[in-house]
Amino acid sequence: MSNIRECKILSVYHWTERLFSFTATRDPGFRFVSGQFAMIGLRTGDAQIMRAYSMVSPSYAETLEFLSIKVPDGPLTSRLKLIQPGDGLLLGAKSSGTLLTSNLIPGRRLYLVSTGTGLAPFMSIIRDPEVYDQHEHIVLIHNCRTVDELAYRDLLTSDLRADEWIGDVIAQKLIYLPMVSREPFDHMGRVTDRMRDGSLFQTIAMPPPRLEDDRFMVCGSPLMLADFCQIMDEWGFREGNSSRPGQFVIERAFVDK
Ligand SMILES: Cc1cc2nc3c(=O)[nH]c(=O)nc-3n(C[C@H](O)[C@H](O)[C@H](O)COP(=O)(O)OP(=O)(O)OC[C@H]3O[C@@H](n4cnc5c(N)ncnc54)[C@H](O)[C@@H]3O)c2cc1C
Repeated sequence: MSNIRECKILSVYHWTERLFSFTATRDPGFRFVSGQFAMIGLRTGDAQIMRAYSMVSPSYAETLEFLSIKVPDGPLTSRLKLIQPGDGLLLGAKSSGTLLTSNLIPGRRLYLVSTGTGLAPFMSIIRDPEVYDQHEHIVLIHNCRTVDELAYRDLLTSDLRADEWIGDVIAQKLIYLPMVSREPFDHMGRVTDRMRDGSLFQTIAMPPPRLEDDRFMVCGSPLMLADFCQIMDEWGFREGNSSRPGQFVIERAFVDK
């Protein structure tokens, strides 16, 4: 059997000139754990262009959702940004990734730190009831350059809290902190700067992170990840993996070439 399946696009939403999201049908055989990514792509003539994408949708959803950048002249996204409902989408059968709670030592608080499209895997994780069973609080931080890049803000601030199934636990345990670096906003600056000076934790009324209590999952630009790993190193936090869980895990939101 081919390891690439064909889905159908169901809906497309353009957030900005640089950012859009779309939903697609889900083959019942396609399995993933919330937070993982898969290869998706398009057929161009006889060839296929495939790229890694994190699933935005939770693992139990009947349809798939993705959040995408539009890279000018990008081999995939210059085509993908034109998709319409009814179009075909290729989906690799295998999902993988490091943003799994099983890669972390159990802790009281789980911080999900993202920049740009790095939000995608966390949109999946914050709708997974198991994650709330395992932690007292989930803190979702989304750092963008401009306010209009804060995708899913309405869903995060209100709609999800009214959700019949998972709304109550989200209202009790999820703290959402949107941050903007290049224009005026309630919470301004770069997430790593605000972690270093401690103001981030003061803003959300949480104690300074402790090895015993706090866990981090991080997905974003290579620059932010490098900065973040340096902080973790200074604080004595160790990166986890499937054979040795730790206090933090990271995933690249994209690879800089
Ligand atoms: C594990 C993993 C998960 C990913 N998940 C997503 C996702 O959920 N959504 C998504 O849009 N992309 C994601 N990407 C990036 C994605 O695989 C492609 O790189 C992206 O779709 C652009 O494809 P392209 O062919 O148009 O350009 P490419 O040739 O792939 O990229 C060209 C350049 O564009 C820049 N770039 C690529 N992706 C991004 C991005 N997301 N944000 C900012 N700059 C970028 C980089 O500088 C890159 O070198 C992920 C990458 C990895 C490794």
